[in-house]
Amino acid sequence: SPQTVTSVIKETVYVNNDDTDVVLERANAAFVILTRNKDLKQLRETLVQLEDRFNRRYHYPYVFLNNEQFSDEFKEKIQDVVSGECQFGLIPEEHWSYPEFINQTRAAEARQDMHNRKVIYGGNESYRHMCRYESGFFFRHPLMDQYKWYWRVEPGVKFACEIDYDPFLFMEQNNKKYGFTISIKEYIETIPTLWNTTMDFMNKHKDLIPATNLMEFVTDKDGNYNRCHFWSNFEIGSLDFLRSDQYLAYFDHLDRAGGFFYERWGDAPVHSLGVSMFLNKNEVHWFEDIGYYHGPLWNCPKGNANKKCWCPEEESIEIKNRGWSCTLDFKELPNP
Ligand code: GDP
Ligand code: MN
Repeated sequence: SPQTVTSVIKETVYVNNDDTDVVLERANAAFVILTRNKDLKQLRETLVQLEDRFNRRYHYPYVFLNNEQFSDEFKEKIQDVVSGECQFGLIPEEHWSYPEFINQTRAAEARQDMHNRKVIYGGNESYRHMCRYESGFFFRHPLMDQYKWYWRVEPGVKFACEIDYDPFLFMEQNNKKYGFTISIKEYIETIPTLWNTTMDFMNKHKDLIPATNLMEFVTDKDGNYNRCHFWSNFEIGSLDFLRSDQYLAYFDHLDRAGGFFYERWGDAPVHSLGVSMFLNKNEVHWFEDIGYYHGPLWNCPKGNANKKCWCPEEESIEIKNRGWSCTLDFKELPNP
C-alpha cells in the first residue's frame, strides 16, 4: 500500500519504485551542470551513476547550462539516461564576458605570464570565465529562479555509494546551507591576492559579517590564510545563500578587484571564503557518506558505511593525504 513520507512538503511526486507505490516528497531542488556539447560522453557516464545511486528513486530535475547552444544530439542523449525533467539553458553573454572595468590587455599578459610559469589552467581564458560564472552567476540564471537548492555535478565525476535518503531534504530539515564532500588546499599561484582582497571586504563591511562564522576553517593558528577550500565540483547548497545581499556584495567586491582575470581565482576558494565568512559550522555539512570521485581525488565512506559503496575507503583523500586535505580539521572545529 502507498506510504507517505512526511516532512517539509515542497512538491509531491508519485514514484513507482520497483514493487511499491511510494509518495515521495521532494525539496525544491535541481541538479545544475555547467557543460559543453563535447562533454556528452563523460557526462552520460556520470549521470547513469547518479541515477543508479540516487535519482532513479527521486527524479529531481536537471538544469544544464552552457555559454554556447546545446546541440539536439546532446539534449536527446542526455534525456535518454536520466529520470528527471531536463532544462537546457544558454548563459547570457553579460555573464560570460569581460566587465567594462577589466583591462583586457593586462588580462592577456597575466595569462601569458601564468602560462610561462606553468600555473594550472594559467593560460586558459575560457577557464577564467567559467570560474567567474560559477562564483557569481550560475545561481542567477533564469532557469534557477524557481529553485531553493542546487546540487552541482560535473562531467566525469563518479558516485560510488547508494544514497538511500534525500540529501536536499537533509539540508533543509537540518538548517544546512552548504554541503561538500572533499576539501583541500588551493595552489597559491592561482590566488595570490584573494585573501587580502577578502580581508579588505571584511574590514569595509563589518556589518555584514556575523559574530559567529567559520573563518577558523580558512585560517591557521596565527590567523593567516591556510588555503583550505571546499572542492566546488561537488556542492549541495542553498541558492538563497548565494543570492543573498551579503554573498553578492562579496562577489562584486572580488569581481571589481579583477582577480578572476588578472590572476586565476577559482570558484572553489571563492565559495569557500564566502561560506566561511557568512555561515557557521552548523550550517555546513560534510557528506562523508557520499562516495564521490573527481579526478584525482576520492571521498569514500569507511567501515560499515563502505558496504553500500564500490569505492576503496583507503583512497579517501582525508586519509590518503591528511596534510593536503582540510576535512578532518573542519570536523574538529567547535560548533557555535
Ligand atoms: P576542473 O575541475 O577545475 O579541472 O575544471 P573542469 O574542466 O572540470 O571545468 C569545471 C566545470 O565547468 C565542468 O562542469 C565543465 O564542464 C565546465 N566548463 C569548463 N569550461 C567550460 C566552458 O568553456 N564552457 C562550458 N559551457 N562549460 C565549461
Ligand atoms: Mn572538473
